[in-house]
Amino acid sequence: MGRACFVLRTLKGNSPYAAHGDFMIRLHHLLLVLLLPSLPLLAHAESLDGHASHEHGVAQLTLAMELTTLEISLESPADNIFGFEHAPRKPGEKAAVASALASLRRPGLMKLPTDAACNLLKADVANPFSGTPNSGTANDGHRNLDAHYTFNCRLPGKVSSLDASALFKAFPRVQRIKLDHALPGSQGSTTLTPKTPIARLTP
Ligand SMILES: [Zn+2]
Repeated sequence: MGRACFVLRTLKGNSPYAAHGDFMIRLHHLLLVLLLPSLPLLAHAESLDGHASHEHGVAQLTLAMELTTLEISLESPADNIFGFEHAPRKPGEKAAVASALASLRRPGLMKLPTDAACNLLKADVANPFSGTPNSGTANDGHRNLDAHYTFNCRLPGKVSSLDASALFKAFPRVQRIKLDHALPGSQGSTTLTPKTPIARLTP
């Protein structure tokens, strides 16, 4: 049942492309009905809205640029970031959560080309242990970390790469990052690893 819960959760997840709106929700519901018999097959593949599945060691980055605004979303199993997914109880666990959240809120985890002149305007990093657990993941004990970054880039055409070295270094449990990007003139997907941490974002 845990796998089905996972898929249901991702269906409710916020799409970075809000414009999809109700149509995509209806499409997802339709797909869910059609795909119910094969849910286990989906569990370790991409979810229906393109979000990464909850696979420990794997994180998802999504980049979208509009005019000079670059939005970057990071979605990861909490285990990759904190080393556990249960609510922190021991002082050491609470300190580890505070420290990791602080790292995630600092600029520099994802390096963009300096000549693009991108400044981090906002870092929204949700504490996965505060409030109610992520819907659909509570039953099987898994939690996700969601972070959303807004940059202003003075020269958006120069956003030709993203270097995730610092992210891999800060969170060594992350072994693989699936990266999707939609920039003017360049769209694509790539997979980053600690040995190949730089994504080329040019066509
Ligand atoms: Zn998990």
